[in-house]
Amino acid sequence: MNKPKMATEKGNSRIVMLLGQLERMNGEAMVRDVETARQVTTKILHLIQTQGKNNSRDVQTTLNILYILSELLSVGEGRRIGVFVSKGGTGILFQIQITASKELPPSEELMLQLHSLLAKVGPKDRKFGVKARLSGALNVTVNLIKQNLQNVKLLLPCLQVLRVYAANLVNAISLGKNGVVELMFKIIAPYSKKNTSLVALDALGALLKSKTNARRAVDGGHVPALLALYLDWHRNDTRHRHMVIRRGLLVCLRNITNIKLGRKAFIEADGMRILYNTSTECLPVRTLDPLVNTSSLIMRKCFPKNRLPVSTIKSTFHYQLPHVPPVGPVAQLYSQPPGVDDVVDESDDNEETEAESDTENEEDEKDHRTLNDDIETDLNKLHPVKSPGRPFEELRAYERFFLELSEDFQVSVFYMVLIHVTTPGSQESCNSVKGQHTQPPPSAATRTPAAPLASLELDSIHLTKDQDNKEEAHIPTPDGHTTFATRHIQSPLLLGDIATRRVGGGGSDCGSEGAEDEGGEGAVLEVPDTALLLPLHDPDLYVEMVKGTHSVPQYAEVAYPDYFGHVAPTFKEPLVERVYGVQRSKIFQDIERLIHPNDILDKVVYDLDIPSCPVIEDGGESLKFNSQFESGNLRKAVQVRKYEYDLVLNSDINSNHYHQWFYFEVSGMRVGTNYRFNIINCEKSNSQFNYGMQVLMYSVQEAIIGRPRWVRTGTDICYYKNHFARSSIAAGGQKGKSYFTLTFSTTFSHKDDVCYFAYHYPYTYSTLKMHLAKLEALRTPQIYLRQDVLCETLGGNTCPLLTITAMPESNSNDHICQFRNRPLIFLSARVHPGETNASWVMKGTLEFLMGTSPLAASLREAYIFKIVPMLNPDGVVNGNHRCSLSGEDLNRQWQNPNPELHPTIYHTKSLLQYLAHIQRAPLVFCDYHGHSRKKNVFMYGCSVKETVWQSNISATSSDLLEDLGYRTLPKILSQIAPAFSMGSCSFVVERSKEATARVVVWREIGVQRSYTMESTLCGCDQGKYKGLHIGTRELEEMGAQFCVALLRLKRLTGLRNHQHLLDLESDIIGTQSKVASPTTYVMEEDEPSFLEAIDYSAESDNEDAEPENEHGNDVHENPDHLDQLSDSDTNHRD
Ligand SMILES: [Zn+2]
Repeated sequence: MNKPKMATEKGNSRIVMLLGQLERMNGEAMVRDVETARQVTTKILHLIQTQGKNNSRDVQTTLNILYILSELLSVGEGRRIGVFVSKGGTGILFQIQITASKELPPSEELMLQLHSLLAKVGPKDRKFGVKARLSGALNVTVNLIKQNLQNVKLLLPCLQVLRVYAANLVNAISLGKNGVVELMFKIIAPYSKKNTSLVALDALGALLKSKTNARRAVDGGHVPALLALYLDWHRNDTRHRHMVIRRGLLVCLRNITNIKLGRKAFIEADGMRILYNTSTECLPVRTLDPLVNTSSLIMRKCFPKNRLPVSTIKSTFHYQLPHVPPVGPVAQLYSQPPGVDDVVDESDDNEETEAESDTENEEDEKDHRTLNDDIETDLNKLHPVKSPGRPFEELRAYERFFLELSEDFQVSVFYMVLIHVTTPGSQESCNSVKGQHTQPPPSAATRTPAAPLASLELDSIHLTKDQDNKEEAHIPTPDGHTTFATRHIQSPLLLGDIATRRVGGGGSDCGSEGAEDEGGEGAVLEVPDTALLLPLHDPDLYVEMVKGTHSVPQYAEVAYPDYFGHVAPTFKEPLVERVYGVQRSKIFQDIERLIHPNDILDKVVYDLDIPSCPVIEDGGESLKFNSQFESGNLRKAVQVRKYEYDLVLNSDINSNHYHQWFYFEVSGMRVGTNYRFNIINCEKSNSQFNYGMQVLMYSVQEAIIGRPRWVRTGTDICYYKNHFARSSIAAGGQKGKSYFTLTFSTTFSHKDDVCYFAYHYPYTYSTLKMHLAKLEALRTPQIYLRQDVLCETLGGNTCPLLTITAMPESNSNDHICQFRNRPLIFLSARVHPGETNASWVMKGTLEFLMGTSPLAASLREAYIFKIVPMLNPDGVVNGNHRCSLSGEDLNRQWQNPNPELHPTIYHTKSLLQYLAHIQRAPLVFCDYHGHSRKKNVFMYGCSVKETVWQSNISATSSDLLEDLGYRTLPKILSQIAPAFSMGSCSFVVERSKEATARVVVWREIGVQRSYTMESTLCGCDQGKYKGLHIGTRELEEMGAQFCVALLRLKRLTGLRNHQHLLDLESDIIGTQSKVASPTTYVMEEDEPSFLEAIDYSAESDNEDAEPENEHGNDVHENPDHLDQLSDSDTNHRD
C-alpha cells in the first residue's frame, strides 16, 4: 500500500523520475542543495495540481505523492518546508483536503496524511491561518474531529492542525462560533484518561485568547472545571511526568482571566487559594517553575486592584504658580474639577480597557515602535540654525555676567579676590545672597578655614548630657584639636530659630517634638569632625545654609546625613547577585495578604497629609518615619505586617506623578530584626534594582562612632508591577495601568539609631550652597573665581552661576588679551532633582577646577568656565524627582522657556544667546544628568550624519558635511575615565528631544560639541569598576576626569591648522567613526528605552492587543497583522 502504484499516465513516469531524484537527494550530500530541492518540489507541486484536475478520483496517486512529500519535508531542517510554502504548497494541500472532503465517506488515510502534512507545514507558513479560512478548510478539520472523537490516530493530527488554525485570531473567533471551544472541553480529560489532552489543551489555549471565546468558557462554567482538572492533575501527577499538560491547563486559565468576567469566575471558584496552595507545593521542585510562574501570573492578574492608600495623588504640597500655562500637564491638573477621585478610575468595568491591562511588554513594544519614529528626519532641523533669539538690546543685560570679557585689571588691585554679585534686569531681590558670597558666612567665621586641623579623632567622640538645648557652636579645645558641636540625637533635628510648618498647628501633640521638650534627657551626640576628609563640608555652615533655603513645606528640620556629611567608604561595594526566585517569593507574600487577610495590620504610622501629627507613638511596636527635610519625599507609611511596611512617595509639586526618588528617615527599630520595605508607587517599568543595585542607608550611630557615610544595603531587592491601580489621570490617559513596587529588606545593627534611606546619595541645594561657600576658601591669587546669582527661582531660591578661570599673568595688554580670548566651556547640572549623581559629578568638576594641580592650572589658563551647578534648585529642595515647581520637566523647556515659569532655563539660555551674539559661543556645552536604567557613564551628542544614517532618509553629500569633532571629547573620556563607556554613547538627534538643552544649544546656539553626560545610578559593567556600585568617589572622579579631557581637547583644538586638527581628531577617534551600533541608539536622552530583557518570567503573559469584537466577520482582515499574530503564537509555544 505504501508503494506507489504505477498507472498508465505519463505523469506517473515523471513521478518515477522524481522519485529517483528524491532518493538521491535523501541519500547523498545533495540533501543540502536547496536549489535541487526547489526544482523537485516545483515539479511535484505541478504534478499534484494536474493530478487534482485530471484524475481527481485517483486517491491512491494523491496519497503516494503525499507520502513522498511527507518524506521529503521531514529532512532539511525546515528549509524544504520553506520552499514548499513559498511555492504555494499549503494552498494545494487545502485544495486536496476540500476535494477529498466531498467524497463520502472521505478517505481516512488521505485525511490522516493531509493533516499530518498540514501540521508540519502550518507552523512555518505565516499565512497558514488565512489560507485555511479562505479555502474553507476550517470546517473540514472541525467536522473530522467531531466524527472521530474516539479515533485517536486521526484525531491527533487534526487537533495539531486546529491548534495552528486557532493561533489566528479571526479563525479563533469563527471556530468558537462553531462550538469548537465546547468541543475541546470535551476532549481534555482528568488524569485517569491521559490521551489527547495535551494537543487539545494547546488548541483550547489558543482559542481562549479570543475574548469572545473566553466569555464562552466562563458562561459554560468551565473555570471551576479547569481548576478542578488542574487540581486533579496536580495531585495525581506525583512524578511530574505531565507537566506540559498541567501547564496547558494553566495557560487556558491564564487566557480566560484576561477578561474581567474570567477573573471574577476565577475568584468565585476559589482560584486564588487553589493556585496559591498548589504553587506552594510546587516551589521546592525547580523543574516545576513554569507552573509556579504561570500560576503567579494568573494570581497577580486576578488579585483585586487596590487603590493607593491616599486620598489624592496630587502632591501633598501645593505651590500657587504666578500663571498656569495654557496647555500641558499642569493646565490639566489645575483644570481638574475638585472632588474628582484621581487615585483610581471611576469605572473599572470597561471591557474595552481590558486589552491593555497587564501587558507587561506593552511599554517596551511602544518604545520599540518609537525607536525609529523618533529619529529626526527633517533635514532642516538637522542643520544647526542659529536662532536670532532675543534682540541684542535685551541680551546686553547679560553682559554683567561676563565681566571677565571686559575686565582690564588696571584699576582694581590685581590680586584682590574678585567677587561680584549681579542679577539680571531688576531682580535685585536676590541681593540677600550677597551676604553669603561677599563675606564669609557667620558660622564659618568662627572656624578659620585654613586652620591646621589635627588628625581626626573620631574615636574620641562620646555621648554627654547637654542641658542647654541650643546648638553649641563649635567649641575649640585648648590644644586646637578636635572640635565638635554637640547636639541631641533625636528625630528630627530641628532648626531652633526657624518657624516650623507645625507651629500653631497642634504640633505639640506630636510624639516627636523639638529639642525643647526633650532637653536634658536624650543622649547628646557629637558631630564627627570630617573636615580633613571632607574639605568642602562644615555642619554649622550647612545649618546656616538651610536657613536661607526656601521650601514649599517650610521645612525646619535638617537630615543628619546632610548635616554630618558623607565620607565615601574605602571598601568595595559590589553589585548584588539577584537571588533566584526573589520576585516570585515577594509576589507570593503579596498574594498572602489576600489569602490570609487576618495577618494584615494595615496600620498607618506616618501620614504627611495629616499635618498635625505624622508620627505615631505606639510604644515601640512600629517604626517611626519622617522625611520632612530638604529633598525628603515620603508621603505615607503603612505597617502591613509586624516587620513590613508599605511606603508611598509624594508626587512632584504641581504634579500627580513622577515617583522614583526617595529620601526618608526611620527610627524606633529593633536590632537584628529583618524589616521589609515596599515603595509601592514607583512608576518606571523597570529599574536597575532588578540588576544588582542596592538602596543607600545612613546610620547616625555609625556616623557618631566615626563612620559618617552612606552605604549600599538591602537584600531580597526587586522591582515589579504590583496590584495598585494607577489612575488614567496620572498615566497620560491610559487606563488599566499599575504601579511598581521596589522592595528591599534590611536589618539594623544599632539600638536607638536613626537611619536614612535614599534612592541615591542625597545632594541638597543647601549642600551646594555650602560647597560653593567653601570653594571660596580654595581660591589662590592665581584663580579667578566669581560667583553670581543668575536669577531667583519660583520658590525664592537663588540660582548660582560660577565663573572660573586663571587670573591674567600680568596686566600687560598681551596677557589681558589672552585672558579675554580664552574659549568658553559651559557646564550645567541637576535639572532633574532625582539625579543627585549629577551633582556629585559637578562637585568633582568644581573641586578639580579650584585645585592646585598643574593640570588644573593649565586648564584655568586654557578656558573660561561658566557653570550653572544646579538648574533646578526648587525641585531639589522640595524632594521632586523630575520637575520644577511649575510641575514641568525643565529639560523640555529649552526651545521656549518662560521667564516666569522657567527662570533658570530662560536666563541660562540667554547667557548662551548673548555669547552667540558676541561671537563667543562656547567650545563645549555639557549638561550633567543621571541615568536610572543603564550602567556606566556616557554621553549623548548631536550629529547630522549619524542621525541620517540611523533614519534612512536620503541626503545629499553636502548635507553630510560634518567634522567629527563631536566625537573627540567622549573618545578622550573613554580613554581616561574608568567609568566612561564609549559604547553607550549616542549622537542621534531625536524629535522628542528637540526641546532639551543638548539639542537646543546645538541647533540654536551652534555649539557643535553640545552634550548630555549621563552617569549611572547603579554601577559599571566594564572597565576598572566592573561589577561595582558607583559611589560618590567615582562620581567625583568622573567630574575631575571630564576636566582633564577638556585639557586634552584643548591641545587638539589649539592647533591653528584646521585640517590638521581634523586629522588629529580623526586620529584620536580611530576607526570608531562609523555609525553607532543600533543597540546604542537611545530613546529618551534621559531614559533610553530599556534594552536588557526584563526577567519577568512570571509576567510575560504575552497578550496580544486583540483587534477583536463580537462579530468576527467584521474584523478587518489585514493579512500582515493576522500573520504576525499567528506567527508570534506559534513561536511562543514552549
Ligand atoms: Zn536627567
